[in-house]
Amino acid sequence: MEKGRRHRPHRRFENAPRLLLECELSLCPSCGEKLKPRRAWHMRKSVQTLKGPLRVAGKSKECVNPSCAQHGRHYYASRVSLISLPNSTYGLDVLAFIGWQHEHEHKQLVEIQRELNRRGILVNERNVGRLYRQFLGLLGAVKEPVQQVLEVTATKQGGLIWAMDALQPEGCGTLLYVLYEVLSGTPVAALQTEHSTTAELVDWLKPYREMHLPVLGTLSDGEEAIGLALKTCWPTAPHQRCQSHFLSNLAEAVLPYDDELRKNLRQDLGGLPAVPEHSVGASPLCQPPEIQG
Ligand SMILES: [Zn+2]
Repeated sequence: MEKGRRHRPHRRFENAPRLLLECELSLCPSCGEKLKPRRAWHMRKSVQTLKGPLRVAGKSKECVNPSCAQHGRHYYASRVSLISLPNSTYGLDVLAFIGWQHEHEHKQLVEIQRELNRRGILVNERNVGRLYRQFLGLLGAVKEPVQQVLEVTATKQGGLIWAMDALQPEGCGTLLYVLYEVLSGTPVAALQTEHSTTAELVDWLKPYREMHLPVLGTLSDGEEAIGLALKTCWPTAPHQRCQSHFLSNLAEAVLPYDDELRKNLRQDLGGLPAVPEHSVGASPLCQPPEIQG
């Protein structure tokens, strides 16, 4: 019997709020010169999170120093790894929710699916199982493909930039610590636990420290235990408190207002005749117009 084509529902979530993430680096890791922001998006996708759908877009930066070995190289917004895994349209909070509900609340996958549906997340039972396995993979030890990505990145870039963040997904009794590598935008590992001490985090980071790959720097948000753990594991690498995390957190708070503004502008301007030629197609993710005065 001929196998039918896999049906993948096309979901656009046109009216979802937008989350714009910039590349976290301000200086080129190779030459130390200021990176130049690029106008184009390097990624954009719709992500279903526990708080509702989001349109996520990442903007990159470029080294424009002609004498730099990495001249012309694009650096991406690696913080998208904290929203959802690459190639996934479900939020990391949804994965953490499934993991917590299955492991700690002993819920069946079908019960979790119903709960997610009740919360407005479109997902079937088979996908709940798939997301659960993805989450277990992220919690597991270093996997060979990830190790290869890290080795290639270290060779090409002269080293890695480690970053860590703690998320508090809804419906989970604990925090989710996520370790990711900035230059390759790779989510490397996650740890689901209560507020960890520096010593516990250092212990968790041991396999990554023991890779003995050169490290150009470390990044984290304001949490002290995380910053100290990174500095303990890689004491010679400069540590930067990530400004863009702070800015993005702020951006999350203004998202609904930004969205409202966009809708109102569209309504107000909708009646005007179109610009005849060379007009750029209106993108749902186009930059908000500059407001003067
Ligand atoms: Zn450079």
